[in-house]
Amino acid sequence: MEAGESSAMICHYKCISCGTDASSIYKDYKNGIIKMEYCVQCRDLIDKYVEYDPVIISLDVLLLKREALRHVLYNSHMQGYWKYVILLVICDAFVKLALQRAKGEITPVNPTYIIYSAMEWGLYKNWLLAVVELTSLVFFICVLVLLFSLLISSKRSAGPNSCKDLVRSVVLSTFGKVLVILAVLWGTKNSHLYIQLIKAYICAANVQALRVCLPGWRIPSVAAISIVGHLSSAYVTNSVQRYLFGS
Ligand SMILES: [Zn+2]
Repeated sequence: MEAGESSAMICHYKCISCGTDASSIYKDYKNGIIKMEYCVQCRDLIDKYVEYDPVIISLDVLLLKREALRHVLYNSHMQGYWKYVILLVICDAFVKLALQRAKGEITPVNPTYIIYSAMEWGLYKNWLLAVVELTSLVFFICVLVLLFSLLISSKRSAGPNSCKDLVRSVVLSTFGKVLVILAVLWGTKNSHLYIQLIKAYICAANVQALRVCLPGWRIPSVAAISIVGHLSSAYVTNSVQRYLFGS
């Protein structure tokens, strides 16, 4: 309920249904009495998720519901992004290392325990590779959004509120990278299909987050940006991988 307490001073909330700006999510009458606010545009509750359990919100985010993504991006005032980014990079690096081991591209110090990978240069190279993949994805998507907004600029399809919002939406919606760690836990023998599905899921999550960040943009435009961004990022990552590992 922190959102409502600070709502009187900060006017950075959005209706989760239509994206209209709002000065507060609810009024706090003290003594535990609050009154939820309604959107002036769509007449729906501005943010029903302030009363929801974090588990329900997480499930709705996993289901890629735009309302839940809008709540996380604009109304939750999430702190500590750097911890989330580090988690993404670590998970991605471990998955890359495990897959390289499975393909025989890297000879592990001790094949039994993944913890011994901390003694391998391969892990640190994969950290670098994971950073390159994430930053290049954010870079390409931001550049493509900028180009598209210059090409098809109109009242209906306005650009993002700020570059920071755009970067946050792309980074947050790549949470699917954490799910890939399951492939390592289940074994890498038949994980290729699972990893490809997770990549498609991340691409879809990026599309939904961009639709939240870029209201009025058509789905084909946003989907094209996401797909081209992922393909460009994959090309750069593969080039860096060839340079680092010589394969
Ligand atoms: Zn609304």
